[in-house]
Parts: sequence; structure tokens; C-alpha cells
Amino acid sequence: MSRISTDVAVIGGGVIGLAIALRLRADGREVVVIEPNEPGSGASYGNAGTIADYAVLPVGTPSVLRNLLPLLFDADSPLSIRAAALPALFPWLARFAYESLPHRYRDNTRRIAELLSDAPAAWREFAAQIGASDLLSAEGCLYLYQTRKAFQAAATDIALRRSYGVALELLSPDEVLRLEPRLTPVEGGGLFFPDAINLVDPGETMRRLSMAARRAGVEFVPACAHTIARASAGVRILAGPFEIGARAVVISAGAHSQRLAAQIGDPVRLDTERGYHIEFDMEKPPVERPVCPTAHGFYLCPMRGRLRVAGLVELGGIAAPANTRLLQSLVANARRVFPTLGEPDRSWLGFRPSMPDSVPVIRPSKGGRDVILAFGHGHIGLTLAPRTARMVSAILAA
Ligand SMILES: Cc1cc2nc3c(=O)[nH]c(=O)nc-3n(C[C@H](O)[C@H](O)[C@H](O)COP(=O)(O)OP(=O)(O)OC[C@H]3O[C@@H](n4cnc5c(N)ncnc54)[C@H](O)[C@@H]3O)c2cc1C
Repeated sequence: MSRISTDVAVIGGGVIGLAIALRLRADGREVVVIEPNEPGSGASYGNAGTIADYAVLPVGTPSVLRNLLPLLFDADSPLSIRAAALPALFPWLARFAYESLPHRYRDNTRRIAELLSDAPAAWREFAAQIGASDLLSAEGCLYLYQTRKAFQAAATDIALRRSYGVALELLSPDEVLRLEPRLTPVEGGGLFFPDAINLVDPGETMRRLSMAARRAGVEFVPACAHTIARASAGVRILAGPFEIGARAVVISAGAHSQRLAAQIGDPVRLDTERGYHIEFDMEKPPVERPVCPTAHGFYLCPMRGRLRVAGLVELGGIAAPANTRLLQSLVANARRVFPTLGEPDRSWLGFRPSMPDSVPVIRPSKGGRDVILAFGHGHIGLTLAPRTARMVSAILAA
């Protein structure tokens, strides 16, 4: 057993853990990141790359609740569930249904909007700090509505976003084509978020982030943390052949955080929304900015040397393999927008760390500030990484 002693141990080296580690080093703390895989290779690698300050709405809304059964079981729906996982998922689903009630939905929206309020500015600063400003694109983001009915149905959501100060423009079908001439025309219209920024290569961004953390003096322990317990002075973590003693620990293991939090006496209702991407290698992607055909629940993302089609929500835990039917539907629906797309060059399955209310858990553990919980960022973890790091830094400094 190799013994390591540090000021703060961060469990999990995704975008959340890495951003926290970097921030804590800047605060002058000694930091160790425990991560068994390539840092940033989890959900933080395969996402749609949007710094989505406009994403103030939780996944659970009154409308989703009204349509939950058809949404979950319709073969062409962007939201699906693995039947075998239903019994295990039941407590999460029950809470999700409750959190989708109108009063909870309004409160969750308020809390998410507050967290997102400074996301683009915080990311610009963060990108400069990690030497990744060249990987940011500031072309905004476009939602597409296939039918007039769908566009009209979005009016309440649009008003809610506006009430939180989200900059947005309603576009006619012609205006959509002026912005993105290569799209197949839609009948409904578009919703353009001009202030949104996006990453043109999330994987490369993660590589630079982890390099910046190493340069700043963060140490990496290549192991999986399996046991965490309070000791007489601080917290003791067992990770493969390592025993790590730390004055404080941050649990930021994404979708894998629940077991560790439970060990420290903080049961949380974390599960995963499985998400997918497919990629088509090409010199020049056919869109200038992330475009989301809202009926299908994915983004068409222009990335360096490729078009990434990323999204979908599949409830079904972290153990099951990728669902080939969902990957096929992603290909088919991407071809509805760009009929000339060939076969994808690669595909990917990842695990969003998801709370039933879509609000991340960023707080001290119930037992004290020696353990801090920082996970459950669902669809907006990339966006919220700098903000989360700031919050964890403030908790530790208090
Ligand atoms: C298809 C898709 C599209 C998305 N699009 C966007 C988007 O456009 N914008 C946005 O803001 N967000 C988006 N997200 C969400 C975002 O990617 C996640 O919220 C974010 O990456 C979560 O970061 P994380 O660090 O918590 O988790 P992860 O990146 O999954 O990192 C967790 C890390 O913990 C490690 N780990 C696990 N268990 C242990 C253990 N026991 N010990 C040590 N280490 C452990 C894992 O190896 C992993 O590296 C998307 C997600 C998906 C799936």
C-alpha cells in the first residue's frame, strides 16, 4: 500500500474535478486528483460542447410529466428507458415526476438560472487560463422547430427564458435559412441564442485543462477510489494500491459519485441519463453553430474536422452496453436534416450525472466541510465547471 498525504483530494478527473483542482491550486492548496482513466475522458469528452447559459429549464417540466409515458416508450422519442432498469430506477423516476410539478419546476428553473447567469464570461476567463481560447467559438446556438404547432408550443418556455434575462431571437423559417443555408427548411421557425459560446473540440479542451492542472502542480493518482471514511485527522481514501490521507475531500466522480457519497453518510438520489454521439469526419461541417432540432433531442455540432451529433436521454444505468437502436435513430434523424450524410465514423455512449431536479449537488456533506459534494450536473456540467470550482473554493475557504 502506497501512502499519500495531501491537503485536498479530488475524486474524479472530469471537467468538474479538474476545474476544482486547478482552482484550489490557485488558492494555494496542495491537491491530488484520483482518477483511474485518462482525465476528462468521461462525459466531459463526448458532449455537445455548448456553454449553454440559455439552458435554464430542467429536464423535468409539467409538459414532460404530462407526456412521460409516450415519451419514454415511443420508439422515436428523444427520451427512452431500458425496461430492465425500471425497478432500480423507480425511486429516481418518482422523484423526477414530483420535481416536474409546476411549483417545483418553477423553483428548479430559478435555481438553475442563478447558477448559469455568468457562464459565458466565466468560460472565457477559464479558457484563457488553461490556454484554450482558440477552442471557443462565439457563433451562438440555434433551436429548430419543425412545425408551427411546435414553435407555438414553445412560447411559455421562451417567455420563461426571457424572464431570466436569456438573450434570444425568434426566427422565421426564412431567417433560419439565412443563418444556416445548408439546413433542410423547417416550417415552424427557429430560436437563436446569440450569446451562447461553444467548444469546437471538447476532448482537446479536456487535454489542455488536465495539462494546465499538472503545470499548476496538481498530482494525479491513477486509481479508482473505492472506500472513503472520516479518520481522526481528516479523511482516508482507499484507491487501488494507494491510501490517501487528506484534510478535505471533494467527491466529483460524475455519475459514479453516489456510492462514495453514501459511504460518508450522504445518500443522494443521483442516477444517470445516458447520452450518445456519432461523428462524421469532414473538413467543413455543414453548420456554423450548434443546431438542435428540438423534436429529436440532439445537437448537430460543428467541431474541428467533424460534425458531431450529440444528445438523447436514455434512462438505464451505467452498466448496460450502448443501445444500437438509439444510435441508428440518431443517424436517421441527423439525415432528416442533412440527407447526404453517409455512415458515421464513430459512435460513443456517455453518462450524464443526473439529479431528478436537474440541479447539481454542490455543498458540504452533512457531516461537515471535510467532505464536499460536487456532482450531478446533468446536461450542463461543461457549462458549470468554472462556477462549480468557484463555489467549492468558497466552501473550503469558509
Ligand atoms: C451526449 C451529451 C451531451 C452533452 N452536452 C453538453 C453540453 O453541450 N453542455 C454542457 O454543459 N454539458 C453537456 N453535457 C453534460 C456534461 O458533459 C456533464 O455534465 C459533465 O461532463 C459532467 O462532468 P463530471 O466531471 O461530473 O463527470 P465526468 O466527465 O463523467 O467525469 C467523472 C470522472 O470520475 C471518474 N471516476 C468515476 N468513479 C471514480 C472513482 N471511484 N474514483 C476516481 N475517479 C472516478 C471517471 O473516470 C471520470 O473521469 C452533455 C453530456 C452528454 C452525455
